[in-house]
Amino acid sequence: MSENETHEEIDLNKAECQSVAAHIYEYLDSEMTEDDALRMRRHVAECSPCLAEMSIEEMIKRVLKRSCAEKAPEHLRVAIHAQFTSIRFIE
Ligand SMILES: [Zn+2]
Repeated sequence: MSENETHEEIDLNKAECQSVAAHIYEYLDSEMTEDDALRMRRHVAECSPCLAEMSIEEMIKRVLKRSCAEKAPEHLRVAIHAQFTSIRFIE
């Protein structure tokens, strides 16, 4: 039976996902060490929820840079989320 293996894998991914969520801004701002950034990229490459989250945060960051706003308004965040989801759905 491979039940235990599956559980371990899920726990590992969960921990990695939490770490990505916690450090996403450090990563996007390039404030990470090369090792941490590499670890982040490796996880995101095989974890689609984290990839989606990172892509959304990156998009919001770009939009904010352009508009010079300090913080993303909630409606912008929701709009980008919706747009991203629909793009992924079409693909
Ligand atoms: Zn993840």
